[in-house]
Amino acid sequence: MSVHSMKQWSDLAAKLKPADGMFLDGQFVASASGKTFDSINPATGDVLAQVAEGDAVDIDRAVSLARARFESGVWANESPMNRKSVLLRLAELIRDNLDELALLDSLDMGKPVEDAATIDVPGSALFFQWYAEAIDKIYDEVAPTGAGDLAMITREPLGVVGAVVPWNFPLDMATWKVSAALAAGNSVVLKPAEQSPLSALRLAQLAVEAGVPEGVFNVVPGYGETAGKALGLHMDVDCLAFTGSTPVGKMFQQYAGQSNMKQVWLETGGKSPNLVFADCDDLEAAADMAAFGIFFNQGEVCSANSRLLVERSIHAEFVEMLKSRAPNFQPGNPLDPASKMGAIVSQEQHDRIMSMIEGGKKDADCVVGGNAVLIDNRGLYVEPTIFDHVAPDCTIARDEIFGPVLSVIPFDHEEEAVRIANDTIYGLAASLWTGSLSRAHRVSRQLRAGTVSVNTVDALSPMTPFGGFKQSGIGRDLSLHGLDKYTALKTTWIKY
Ligand code: NAD
Repeated sequence: MSVHSMKQWSDLAAKLKPADGMFLDGQFVASASGKTFDSINPATGDVLAQVAEGDAVDIDRAVSLARARFESGVWANESPMNRKSVLLRLAELIRDNLDELALLDSLDMGKPVEDAATIDVPGSALFFQWYAEAIDKIYDEVAPTGAGDLAMITREPLGVVGAVVPWNFPLDMATWKVSAALAAGNSVVLKPAEQSPLSALRLAQLAVEAGVPEGVFNVVPGYGETAGKALGLHMDVDCLAFTGSTPVGKMFQQYAGQSNMKQVWLETGGKSPNLVFADCDDLEAAADMAAFGIFFNQGEVCSANSRLLVERSIHAEFVEMLKSRAPNFQPGNPLDPASKMGAIVSQEQHDRIMSMIEGGKKDADCVVGGNAVLIDNRGLYVEPTIFDHVAPDCTIARDEIFGPVLSVIPFDHEEEAVRIANDTIYGLAASLWTGSLSRAHRVSRQLRAGTVSVNTVDALSPMTPFGGFKQSGIGRDLSLHGLDKYTALKTTWIKY
């Protein structure tokens, strides 16, 4: 059952008043320059808010605040049990404000509001809850020394964490960084994507309402080349956690080298393969999930299953099955609960997707979609698009499109499938479908990807690490391993 009808969502949207300031020291304030930028609804072209445009001066102010709060110990020295209580309250506040947060993300970046309300916002609450519950159950270590010595190995928060995140899951990508960083006792300066700053601003306000001390979690909206770069280059940021594209990830590594050698953790791009073997037990389920795996969230998913490798003996049949599923993802008004695909985030991204599709038409057979569409005569929409008989080395099979575009590549045998799957600069995720337990284990071991899903796609939970091999990144979000990047190990050796 839908969360709300389209009329109810539209009425709620009409009443929404998004916060538009930077969030510093528990308050919404203008940027030092007084400049703002428009936050635009890609489904309508309407301006949702004129948001404070932070730059290097504002980042410096936010980092100073975050540092002062860290040094004061007001959060870092709080007992893990007390941090847990506050973050559990924040999880509840996220659930209490589900409609508003879902609308902010849907209006800001075009995703179906029903998905935001049933996946993104509950996910954000769950991630905060999970790290809250974890943080007072992690024990430190005592090293096995001889009598007369006590060597303790403790985990300490790093200090000021800078987080720079993308627009595809605005609330959740911010949450993945902030939940673990705050649970570990750090202060945070978050720079949301310029396309989608609104839910992050509300999240920070809710965090203060939950009891996170003012100035511990600050949000500076602004552009990547100004605010993002300033955070990357800042001399007093201890750790920079980034999610976004591979080229920008590489820039953060350079910024660190040019400044204070801050730790840099990267969750970057992907071109994830989905391998369907002829011995798959349930081809219907495989086709359902292959379609979901590329069209969910308009294909704007880092781990989207954008390369479908199908064994040649079932290739023609499987492509027909996919074709029958594509109409379920015909784009629609994001506020309509029936829409399974919404609007593309921005004109720039829409142009990029359409130019990749036009290029693809020269290299392969476009068997489904391939066109831009309007809904109610407006908006940035793209049809679910499937290319068949794609050569593994052509552009649509190699480059991340970040849109609803699938490349189908037939293969003849397992070794060839693994070779094609691994022939990429990326290594974020992979899926495979088989009824053979031996093949499931054998192929999973051979696939170079941070997450391998067998007989499903995009398996993900707070309990399991998420991140990439190769140029898909460094470090892991989620799970207890997600705390590693926000803490440093300290040895304290006592001779007595
Ligand atoms: P992007 O790299 O353009 O932007 C991401 C963030 O970096 C934004 O906040 C942006 O303002 C900032 N930025 C941009 N240029 C910058 C610069 N020169 N200096 C400092 N900061 C800068 O990515 P995007 O278009 O927002 O998001 C799409 C990308 O994100 C895709 O490549 C996708 O695969 C990736 N992504 C990865 C994951 C993951 O977990 N691996 C998750 C979601 C998205």
